[in-house]
This record gives sequence, structure tokens and C-alpha cells, in this order.
Amino acid sequence: MDDEPRIEDARTLAGVPDGFDRFWTPYRMAYINGDHKPADASAEECPFCAAPARPDEDALIVHRGSTCFVLMNLYPYNAGHMLVCPYRHVSDYTELTGPERVELGELTATAMEVERAVAHPHGFNLGMNQGEVAGAGIAAHLHQHIVPRWAGDANFLPIIARTKAIPELLEEARTRLAEAWPKQAPVTSGSAPTTPRPQED
Ligand SMILES: [Zn+2]
Repeated sequence: MDDEPRIEDARTLAGVPDGFDRFWTPYRMAYINGDHKPADASAEECPFCAAPARPDEDALIVHRGSTCFVLMNLYPYNAGHMLVCPYRHVSDYTELTGPERVELGELTATAMEVERAVAHPHGFNLGMNQGEVAGAGIAAHLHQHIVPRWAGDANFLPIIARTKAIPELLEEARTRLAEAWPKQAPVTSGSAPTTPRPQED
């Protein structure tokens, strides 16, 4: 048995040119090859189920909503790569409740606005990979990718990300984004209302 991943020359495959640039992220191979991957698809093994129980700084959580939360991707395709997850351990977009779908969309939009205010990206890639065959790293727990893009970023970020973004710049990025996230009325009753922060940028 040969368990080694097979590398196939892209030139031997059929393809249709499109308007998208391709990201080549060889540093993700360690992850694709199974390092730090959950042993199974259960909620007990799931990093997205474990994250909300930990402090924001440890779990790289940027914002906690009522049904969904936002965190930094530990394996970023690019600087500022965030994920929006429902708290519930569900794998497929069709399994989300109406309120979860609404909040996942709202948090995605807010994450884009916050990222724009903090780091001025030129564009974004958004998306959900449904199932391992579609490229989902943690297929058992739905997550929406928010990947900021800068002109020319694919030239150097795989190298920068591999050597510096983890974990040092990830924590810095989390703090910047969390501080820039718009403040809302408190979720818990009885605490003092917070004044919305003035827009800084
Ligand atoms: Zn989960």
C-alpha cells in the first residue's frame, strides 16, 4: 500500500481559464497530510467545538455572536484569514437554522468591514467547502472562510505565513481585529450598556 500523497502535474489536467489568481500554499501540506487533524468527526475531537470554551486570546476568537462566532484560521491562506462558525457541530449549510444562516452572513459582512478598516485589503475570497472531497479541513463542523486579498499577495505570503504568521502574527492580528470589531449592546442582561466606539478609520 502506498499512503504517500500523489503529486499530479497540473499541466496534464484539463482546465478552463478564469479570472481568479491561484494560491499555492505548500506550507499547508503538513495539515493536509494529517498533522493536528481530529481523530474522528465527533464533537469531542472538534477544534471548532472546543474553541468557545477557551479564552478569546488562546482560541484566537475575534468575536462571539449569539449563534455563531468568528476566529482566526490557525492555517491561514493569507494574513487576516478569518472563519465564521456556528456554535453547533453541524457539517452542512442546509443544516443551519434560519437565525444561524442570518448571523453567519452578518458576521461575514462585519468581518469584511473590520478587515477593511484594519488592513485595507484590495479584495476577498469567501466560501464554504462542503465535505472533505471539496477541500474542507474540518469537514464535520461548518465554517465560512473570509480570506482578504492584496494585489501581489500570492507572491510572498506562503513564505511569510509559514515562517511568521503562526503563531506570532495571528495573535497580533486577532487583537487588532477584535479591538476594531463594532461594539454591540451586551448579551448578558443586567450589565451596563456599552457606548458604540467611534469609527477610527
Ligand atoms: Zn464541532
